[in-house]
Amino acid sequence: MTNLKDWETVIGLEVHAQIISKSKLFSSASTNFGSEPNTQVSLVDAAMPGMLPVINKDCIEQAIKTGVGLNAKINKFSVFDRKNYFYPDLPQGYQISQFSQPIVGEGYIEIDLKDGSSKKIGITRLHLEQDAGKSVHDIEPSKSYIDLNRSGIALMEIVSEPDIRSSEEAQEYVKKLRSILRYIGTCDGNMEEGSLRCDVNISIRKKKFQSRSLLGENILSELGTRCEIKNVNSIKSIGQAIDYEFRRQFDVINSGNEIIQETRLFDEKKGETRPMRSKEEAHDYRYFPDPDLPPLEIDEEWIDKIKKNLPELPDIKKENLINQYKISSYDAAILVSDKSNVEFFDKIITGNKKRNAKNVVNWIIGELFALLNKNNLDIKDSPIKAEELGELIDYIEDQTISGKIAKNVFDEMFKTKKRPKDIIEKKGLKQITDTGEIESLIDKVLNNNKDKVDEYKSGKEKLFGFFVGQVMQETKGTANPGIVNEILKKKLAN
Ligand code: ADP
Ligand code: MG
Repeated sequence: MTNLKDWETVIGLEVHAQIISKSKLFSSASTNFGSEPNTQVSLVDAAMPGMLPVINKDCIEQAIKTGVGLNAKINKFSVFDRKNYFYPDLPQGYQISQFSQPIVGEGYIEIDLKDGSSKKIGITRLHLEQDAGKSVHDIEPSKSYIDLNRSGIALMEIVSEPDIRSSEEAQEYVKKLRSILRYIGTCDGNMEEGSLRCDVNISIRKKKFQSRSLLGENILSELGTRCEIKNVNSIKSIGQAIDYEFRRQFDVINSGNEIIQETRLFDEKKGETRPMRSKEEAHDYRYFPDPDLPPLEIDEEWIDKIKKNLPELPDIKKENLINQYKISSYDAAILVSDKSNVEFFDKIITGNKKRNAKNVVNWIIGELFALLNKNNLDIKDSPIKAEELGELIDYIEDQTISGKIAKNVFDEMFKTKKRPKDIIEKKGLKQITDTGEIESLIDKVLNNNKDKVDEYKSGKEKLFGFFVGQVMQETKGTANPGIVNEILKKKLAN
């Protein structure tokens, strides 16, 4: 018997990222998503005999950019190979890919974890390849259809080292990778539309300290037998598939059996993985260099030029936010995790020195994100625009409204898309800061509650809250709480 706690998961991810480009990797057909089936297919994509692939320079540039964004080595010499297999949506009978000499070599990305630490995950390689078409099985019961629109679109396969140790790390890795791709503009990262797809390789092994103390030798560098879970298509599913697989593999080993290397599927509805094919049935792809394509040579100048023009990446942006606005590393990480978050923040803060960055961040990642999540909305589609949230924050700052009232105004803005000013005016929510007015209100409350005042004075101090509550009720919450507290204290001390 062995204990689940003593085991760890070892995970390596293969991510397929569709390149943003107007035309395909080896043909001039359009890459537009969602067009009528088979309307974006050139003779090359349909694999007509005698057609020759012509490399699309834009796609190469996108791959180099991505390599630079992944802190990786760009290989000046790389080779396109044929990966041979039969599949109805692969008319060539092979996929043009890169095998032993990919365009991008080793790199890394840094991920931020919930406990505040960060970790580097190694990238083994990035190579270019063609996407396949799509088989459509659900139009007629006895027929399958083929749509070749996707056939030949450029993909980057980004392979990680087996450096990932938990579902959290895997999810953070994919999120970070996706955000880098979006910052650089090389892949839109849309997992629902399939432009980012992930294969999860996972094995388990006994944790380090355990093996050392029990056996007195280092068996640690050894990896267990892995399973590969194909095409997991959301961040949530990646987490669930890993957690399920960890448990499953542990149970297999714990009951005295061995893990067999196999490809598995993740069933989203059931939340479990199921075998697809085992290693024995695995393909022999018979890779060989594609005779139609010469090796790819990239010169130093081109790489340098790309490096110089690369947009600011999330890690750098994060550092800049921390230095410029003194916000926490945690807050900055959340902001930069999505380019749209930073843009929203920037719109509120730039040119507005009086706005307090920490406040602005709290409103965005606290209140705004909560409502967006609840309504399943992206920040790009937020009913509250950046300028309007900025105005609301100003009204709190200049004491037009209290922070508590501001939350109500905020909810109302989200529901009605009205400007804060209109809501405050229409509902009479302006804060009362006039001490004279507050004082007379307090007098009224104390007069109406003489018995409670006596109780308070004879030691029942928790009644203080009751008096504050009464004043607030009188003013529908618009009295400035600081002033109310101050005057009440004075009055009750007499
Ligand atoms: P293949 O091309 O057959 O899928 P690779 O050796 O290129 O195999 O590995 C693919 C992915 O699997 C990589 O991300 C790698 O880090 C990961 N990987 C390899 N061995 C293991 C293992 N024992 N446990 C977990 N992940 C692994
Ligand atoms: Mg693989």
